[in-house]
Amino acid sequence: MDQVLGLKCLLCGKEYLPDQVDYVCPDHGDEGILDVCYDYTRIARRLTPDTLRHSSDTSMWRYRALLPVEPGSEIPPLAVGWTPLYPAPRLAADLGLNQLWVKDDGRQPTASFKDRASAVAVVKAKEKGVSVITTASTGNAAAALSGLCASVGQANVIFVPATAPQAKIAQLLAFGSTVMLVQGTYDDAFELCLKAEKEYGWYNRNTGYNPYMSEGKKTAAFEICEQLGWQAPDAIFVSVGDGCIIGGLHKGLKDLKTLGWIDRMPRLIGVQAEGSNYLTEAWEKGEDVLTKPPIAAHTLADSISAGLPRDRVKAMAAVRETQGAYLSVPDEEILEAIPALARGCGVFAEPAGAAAYAGLAKAVRTGLVSPRDRLVVLNTGSGLKDIASAMKAVQRVHTEPYTLPPDLDALKELVTKWNR
Ligand SMILES: *Cc1c(COP(=O)(O)O)cnc(C)c1O
Ligand SMILES: [Zn+2]
Repeated sequence: MDQVLGLKCLLCGKEYLPDQVDYVCPDHGDEGILDVCYDYTRIARRLTPDTLRHSSDTSMWRYRALLPVEPGSEIPPLAVGWTPLYPAPRLAADLGLNQLWVKDDGRQPTASFKDRASAVAVVKAKEKGVSVITTASTGNAAAALSGLCASVGQANVIFVPATAPQAKIAQLLAFGSTVMLVQGTYDDAFELCLKAEKEYGWYNRNTGYNPYMSEGKKTAAFEICEQLGWQAPDAIFVSVGDGCIIGGLHKGLKDLKTLGWIDRMPRLIGVQAEGSNYLTEAWEKGEDVLTKPPIAAHTLADSISAGLPRDRVKAMAAVRETQGAYLSVPDEEILEAIPALARGCGVFAEPAGAAAYAGLAKAVRTGLVSPRDRLVVLNTGSGLKDIASAMKAVQRVHTEPYTLPPDLDALKELVTKWNR
């Protein structure tokens, strides 16, 4: 792994060799999140935009030289990454924008963005030779770890809130994970998972704890820029719970800037639910996220419900260092964004995915972006993950099916009513 120089504590700046630490800076306990540092000169000799153009690997592993895995490590077989970036001219027109793209990570093997991180977790656990991988999750990270583990026959234990949507729990059970439904919030599940890992020596995939998770997530930034011919967009809209995705996107963009493959940084716009707006509050009030206490999170966008965002240090830096912003949207706007996005470009998102689009609509209204900007909205999860919310969303915009007996006369009667 000679492309990795070390792991640097975000709080004290101390650097460690990869085999010196497992997850966090020993001087700072669970808060001492580490950042993976690379030897870009070495990487630039192995990977260039030109070698990528000729690469036949249509997964996130086309960027393997920029990922923290050993050269001989086996990659799980599920096709993670290289999701489509769709131009969305009708949505753009609706919002009065020139150019808009939607990147659809609902198309991942387990139907959410989290597959990017879990793929790396499975490789790292194998490198360490551990027998069990564990994670706490609002649902998608769990489903992702569960599926990636199933693809290689890796044992795993999953902690999710008992209230997680059925589809996500069904995935876990189908993939054969050991499932712990925790009677509490995601934050409670997270704490229990940390204790279990320490007690049993399991490999921990938790977000905002395992330093390699944002590395997997950064591949989405690589893809966006490569799919746009290395002409970076002006801004990327992404929904934020723990802040690992936005931190990962920032890391990916910094990698590309350092390598000179893009010539400027896009602004990162983090979108939160109003009922789970820890980072938006900290951003607006200029609060220090190391001392700001947890909030009580309530939102139907379960994937971005986090009272204490675990990756808050990276998440704040992502927005601050790119002249971006945090903003929050109410659950009603998140719900309405589901059919708006689906009808405007054919991408069906779960609430947390649609929240990014609701955030874009708000940013247009408030002048946070200019109509001339080239903008990307990231859908982080498939609408099939949470059918109950999708049904609420279509009812909210008064879309109802017709019910009729199976005969043509009944149909004709309906069609006549329509035409009137
Ligand atoms: C996890 C998740 C998010 C938020 O990612 P964080 O790293 O927690 O900020 C957004 N959308 C979906 C669908 C997710 O699963
Ligand atoms: Zn430290």
